[in-house]
Amino acid sequence: MTYSLFSLAREALRGHTGWKPAWRDAAPKPDYDVLIVGGGGHGLATAYYLAKEHGITNVAVLEKSYIGSGNAGRNTTIIRSNYLLPGNERFYEKSMQLWEGLEQDLNYNAMVSQRGVLNLFHSDAQRDQYARRGNSMRLHGVDAELLDAEQVRAMYPFLDFANARFPIRGGLLQRRGGTARHDAVAWGFARGADRRGVDIVQNCEVTGIGVTNGRVTGVQTSRGPILAKKIGLVCAGNSSRVAAMAGLRLPIESHVLQAFVSEGIKPLIDGVVTFGAGHFYVSQSDKGGLVFGGDIDGYNSYAQRGSLPVVEDVMEGGMALMPMIGRLRVLRQWGGIMDMSMDGSPIIDRTPIEGLYLNAGWCYGGFKATPGSGWCFAHTIAKDEAHFVNSAYRLDRFATGALLDERGAGATPNLH
Ligand SMILES: Cc1cc2nc3c(=O)[nH]c(=O)nc-3n(C[C@H](O)[C@H](O)[C@H](O)COP(=O)(O)OP(=O)(O)OC[C@H]3O[C@@H](n4cnc5c(N)ncnc54)[C@H](O)[C@@H]3O)c2cc1C
Repeated sequence: MTYSLFSLAREALRGHTGWKPAWRDAAPKPDYDVLIVGGGGHGLATAYYLAKEHGITNVAVLEKSYIGSGNAGRNTTIIRSNYLLPGNERFYEKSMQLWEGLEQDLNYNAMVSQRGVLNLFHSDAQRDQYARRGNSMRLHGVDAELLDAEQVRAMYPFLDFANARFPIRGGLLQRRGGTARHDAVAWGFARGADRRGVDIVQNCEVTGIGVTNGRVTGVQTSRGPILAKKIGLVCAGNSSRVAAMAGLRLPIESHVLQAFVSEGIKPLIDGVVTFGAGHFYVSQSDKGGLVFGGDIDGYNSYAQRGSLPVVEDVMEGGMALMPMIGRLRVLRQWGGIMDMSMDGSPIIDRTPIEGLYLNAGWCYGGFKATPGSGWCFAHTIAKDEAHFVNSAYRLDRFATGALLDERGAGATPNLH
């Protein structure tokens, strides 16, 4: 069923009795050309682009819970392509371009909203660093504007410009950045993949990966064995656990990241604002709640819940940036498991095992990558080689030293 004004009017007239489920609740078949392990945004997007771009439709997405139950449905929904390093910039810009046509492509309302992402700076040195990043973006054909304090004040007069420790001196604005509705992104890709023949198999946990003579043969699951010629691992925070089933040890640590939503208030912030002197980012949902977050909890965990010290740290960041946030009540808080890579950049690559491919290491920035990641991973699986766009995201870069360290923080996952 195609969604349109016509179908909406038709269903309104017949009491909304004709809507069909957006995707089939498929049972696993014994054999597939490609298995995608992990039904988050990236896994579903991979299956969609395998079918759409490469005509590979004998594909199943295996999800241990329900689709979108992981980080896809837990993030703060920020999308942007404001990176410094060429290896990152070309990838995130490809993803941004896919976001820009995604809803038409999927025939699904993912609430993509290019409301602007503003990174604040608080010192001369930081301004120079942001100018450098903005120049790099523009050299890649990506929009970037360096604003002074007065230009920022005109946009967000309620920020604490005169903060004694962290005065706001200006910001780097990417107007094409913004937000998208995370669940709808997962649902839209699931529907698009399903319409092209992909099986979306929920409540199907992969418990083992078969490898014979250096080649994958299939997987064991909670719903029985499934054979496959190729397997793509897209398990975000659980990447290390699943890769270990094939005997692989990944350069990834799992950490918790929390998000918060306040009670609903009148329209206040029409874009995304990030604090440059701490880790705090905020936007406002269409329901009125302020959606915000900060740093990871900083210890390894597979639990989808966070600890109190980071709650305090995030609130302090909010108070330093916009003190009136102290009058708001926090309504909801949750955590997700981040797949923190050693240099803060992701991996989209083949593995040493033939037929086994890896998509992981998204740290806390993988939501914006969802379409680009799926598009590149589908290419890598279909063609058995990376596309130029994801050619820097190699698994062996940690052995060769070709790190992609956007932050310059070194090989320290908890600093990325
Ligand atoms: C609080 C929070 C805020 C964030 N904010 C942002 C943001 O503002 N912008 C941004 O760009 N990124 C953000 N991120 C990061 C982003 O959400 C992730 O990087 C991205 O969603 C990861 O890809 P995914 O959607 O495929 O992951 P997931 O949705 O986690 O998908 C992985 C799936 O694999 C499944 N799985 C695991 N093990 C198995 C198994 N053995 N068998 C079968 N299935 C399995 C899991 O159940 C899960 O559904 C945030 C993350 C969190 C937690």
